[in-house]
Amino acid sequence: MSACSVPAAAMPLPAKPGPCAFGMTGDTATALGAPDMQTPAPLLDDAAIRALFDTALAAARDWHAACPVQRGFAPWPDDLAYVPRAPVPVPGIAELIADPGEASDISRPLRDALLAIAPFVEWRLGYTEDEVGADFLRRYGWFELAGPEGHFHTLRTRITVGYWGRGLFYPRHQHEPEELYTVVSGHALFHADGEADLTLAPGQTRLHRANQPHALTTAQSPILTLVFWRGAGLAQPPRISAA
Ligand code: ZN
Repeated sequence: MSACSVPAAAMPLPAKPGPCAFGMTGDTATALGAPDMQTPAPLLDDAAIRALFDTALAAARDWHAACPVQRGFAPWPDDLAYVPRAPVPVPGIAELIADPGEASDISRPLRDALLAIAPFVEWRLGYTEDEVGADFLRRYGWFELAGPEGHFHTLRTRITVGYWGRGLFYPRHQHEPEELYTVVSGHALFHADGEADLTLAPGQTRLHRANQPHALTTAQSPILTLVFWRGAGLAQPPRISAA
């Protein structure tokens, strides 16, 4: 079974919290021995941190290689160069580590590799409290794994990681590059202007066209995503769409 073998058509999800219907298991970060919410970043030397980033990049590459939709969207960049970046924590790291969402057997290596680098990442928020609210800013975050300003430099694409805790609404926003969301763990309801809403779970993807407004809602699960961009404007941030 490939990472994309679950059809992208809407599939029923349980109305109550619990294991999802996609062969996921109920493991949690606690079972992985992840630190609790108050634990500071582990003390690792630069070589050890670099090894964690290399592992995460390799897991992302494997994830991309396993999915024809991802391969069709953009080839894996062959010019990646590691860029040391100072960690920039955001409050949402604690929630990500405590509640990363259920992975599939195929997505678990990538989810766990992303959790491992989470304390060392240059996290970003990108929105103001007026735009998204204080609770949203405390329980979400994203970073650029690869791209013009990423932990691995490339000008050919932008590969970001985004996390949203349970019960958040990411308002309609847009950007010039085309975008392919892939779900690594958890699930969420995706909205896009002109298209039906769709709940996506690990292995499923969603394409957003250039400047197509889109939004996202989490309910009883968080969501962790790996997102690919292509086209002009790779270094530009998303912006909230007009009403
Ligand atoms: Zn987007």
